[in-house]
Amino acid sequence: MSLYGGIEGGGTKFVCAIGSGVGDLRVETRIPTTTPRETLGKVVDFFLKQEDILGPLDALGFACFGPLDPNQASARFGQILSTPKPGWAGADVLGRLRSAFTLPIGFDTDVNAAALAETLWGAAKGCDPVIYLTVGTGIGGGALVNGRLLHGLQHPEMGHIRIDHDLKTDPFPGICPYHQDCLEGLASGPAMEKRWGRKAETLPPDHPAWNLEAGYIAQALTNYILTLSPEKIVLGGGVAQQSRLLPLIHQKVLSLLNGYLQVQQITRNIQDYIVSPGLGSQSGVLGAIALAQAALKHDQLTV
Ligand code: ADP
Ligand code: ZN
Repeated sequence: MSLYGGIEGGGTKFVCAIGSGVGDLRVETRIPTTTPRETLGKVVDFFLKQEDILGPLDALGFACFGPLDPNQASARFGQILSTPKPGWAGADVLGRLRSAFTLPIGFDTDVNAAALAETLWGAAKGCDPVIYLTVGTGIGGGALVNGRLLHGLQHPEMGHIRIDHDLKTDPFPGICPYHQDCLEGLASGPAMEKRWGRKAETLPPDHPAWNLEAGYIAQALTNYILTLSPEKIVLGGGVAQQSRLLPLIHQKVLSLLNGYLQVQQITRNIQDYIVSPGLGSQSGVLGAIALAQAALKHDQLTV
């Protein structure tokens, strides 16, 4: 059985795990995100130490926050691109791992990796296309289309789309440093906190915040449904843990589509169409393991 290392690189912490796949994660550790040098140094140390205990790894997978360059043919492949996070813009995060390990290493965005894990083992098993949207500190979306994770010039940036923002009902200007009231600027966890003056998780279920939040997310999902025609949408991230949100989103997506898409999965069964992650909070780290599996397979195919 092959042994994989997975890294879920986030803005506040890096989660590293070793295992063979879903149901078999043997060790897991959390490393706070500080500078790229310190954080990645600790990541490398963790895997080197664990290889002494568990034996050699067959491949690594790195599911990282973005924006990043996921295109193997690009000169900047494996680097973080523009980010307000001090010290991380331009960091060659994949290069640091490559200098320490001669293993196949899969590399993609955290949300693309989560989409892959949910398709292989979670709530979107067997579906294609699949969208995974996280609503947390930021908003980001990944997609699996025709069996592959979606890249392009860069990768999808589903969190920064324009949203219909009625300033009469919601005078909050938005907080995205690039676009002000894009989806992330209006509906991320920090946007909710700034608008209402308290953390999203402390807002009671009957607070008007949830209706507004569901409206923004429903607008975004409706646009993705019309653009990519996904067979399943998985909604993850801290904010999406509010249980009141999903039923409100279902209702609002149906209302926005207004009967236009006559597919039963939507018209009759929307509660099974837009769903919570089947892998819970492990979609990200299992996504990294899935990237490692894919990297090993690809490597074996080309040998
Ligand atoms: P990250 O995006 O950094 O990986 P999370 O997905 O946990 O982390 O998102 C963190 C954001 O989610 C914070 O803004 C926090 O206020 C919000 N949040 C966390 N838990 C909940 C909850 N149960 N209900 C609503 N919002 C939450
Ligand atoms: Zn934006």
